[in-house]
Amino acid sequence: MKKTIGLLLCLVLLLDGCAAGPEEAEIYAMDTLMTLQVWGAGRAEAVAQLKGMLNGWDGQLSVTREGSLVRQLNEGQSVSLTGELEALFSGALALSRETGGALDPCLYPVTRLWGFTTGEYRVPTQEELDALLPLTGSDKLTLSGKTASLAPGAQLDLGALVKGWAGSRAAAYLEGRGDVTCAILALGGNIQTFGTKPDGSPWQVGIQNPAGSGVAGILSVTGTWAVVTSGGYQRYFEEDGVRYSHIIDPKTGYPVSNGLASVTVLCQDGLRADGLSTALTVMGLEKAAAFWREHRDFEAVFILDSGEIYATPGAPLSSCSFQLLEEAP
Ligand code: AMP
Ligand code: MG
Repeated sequence: MKKTIGLLLCLVLLLDGCAAGPEEAEIYAMDTLMTLQVWGAGRAEAVAQLKGMLNGWDGQLSVTREGSLVRQLNEGQSVSLTGELEALFSGALALSRETGGALDPCLYPVTRLWGFTTGEYRVPTQEELDALLPLTGSDKLTLSGKTASLAPGAQLDLGALVKGWAGSRAAAYLEGRGDVTCAILALGGNIQTFGTKPDGSPWQVGIQNPAGSGVAGILSVTGTWAVVTSGGYQRYFEEDGVRYSHIIDPKTGYPVSNGLASVTVLCQDGLRADGLSTALTVMGLEKAAAFWREHRDFEAVFILDSGEIYATPGAPLSSCSFQLLEEAP
């Protein structure tokens, strides 16, 4: 009898977790609107905890918030990192090296000059850029054990990868709880899935049409994935008929303009998905395709300014016509 009651209780809890619908929340953190949807018996507490975690990371990692760890670094102080932040910082350095500097966590002096974090947009002079470019490059960030410091005048901005990293950390937290069946977190343009959808069907993640409204294609994913899109259309300003996007080529200090409208990366590691979506946008289609051929630990969808779409052969893409990236050049 006891056994039957126990089994019934388990079944009720299980059905409650799946059928009760998700706990939902919206928060504004990391300079973007975030939507959290979590299913399972522990959903309410999990969402409350996630909100605290995301706000906490924002407080530590924001370039603009007074007193943040990143602000302290940018003001010339050495800072002591917790284990998870040490992993974030060393992951950023490793990805910067792996992408040949296309992802540069120390690009802030230049992105700030263009006004992309303050909203006070302007086209800088070549002299201004020439003066700041020597202060950029990931070699300006030193990690010594758990202590981080910057070269004099250098400034850190983890904005190109922090949301992806946070999505993966959030998914790991949900997994560790054991009482959450699945979740989908939209951290701005970053989508983080966790587990299998209650009805067993794949999560449908739309890729925004970079040239207008609506979706350009749909990625169907099952399990825990980061799906991250970067593109000049997400933030830009126009001056004298020229469009300047927020993604900057660290080699020139100029916004990229290489025919790529957006890059979406699908990877189980959120830091990698987010960092790569930015880095591959900087590289342009040809170099990005070569990078994928060398690594093959992620899938990607490239949308060109012309509207043409290219996808890696493993990308679960539908609802659009596209060409497959060649496996070999
Ligand atoms: P994402 O939206 O992930 O592509 O990140 C773009 C943001 O990262 C920009 O708004 C800048 O703050 C910063 N950023 C721009 N270009 C780069 C770059 N090449 N490497 C690192 N961060 C960048
Ligand atoms: Mg990114």
